[in-house]
Amino acid sequence: MRLTAFTDVSLRLVMRLAVTAEGELLTTRNAAGMLAVPYTHMAKAVAALSDMGLVETRRGRHGGLRLTEEGRRTSVGTIVRALEGGGDLAGCEADPPCPLRAACRLRGALRDAREAFYSSLDTVAVESLVAPPTRGALTLLRPE
Ligand code: SF4
Repeated sequence: MRLTAFTDVSLRLVMRLAVTAEGELLTTRNAAGMLAVPYTHMAKAVAALSDMGLVETRRGRHGGLRLTEEGRRTSVGTIVRALEGGGDLAGCEADPPCPLRAACRLRGALRDAREAFYSSLDTVAVESLVAPPTRGALTLLRPE
């Protein structure tokens, strides 16, 4: 199973925000440059994480992006589950749909496997992702 680029960008942002220093101004554009993703992708990630209550955007001189307390406490599984959604892993309902879809044991097995993947990530807290050595790599990132 491979994460969508959208989920990957969102998790990169959450990790970087988890090490933001007091007084550091991190804008969507800065974050996009630091994390090597297009601005439009980062803006969509900011909007989604903000809707989930995990990131807040403040305006003004002391503005910028911040991880909320909920964002700091949440698990990677919660984020990935919300962003990846619950669709089929294979093209069961594609156009044309798979002729096996009404009685396919593989479909159920793939659903169970995805849930096991999410459950494993439920045990990983955002805070734990930014322990060393990742913390050092994150804090070295600078706006372009
Ligand atoms: S074989 Fe099963 S899992 Fe694969 S596309 Fe068809 S219905 Fe879905």
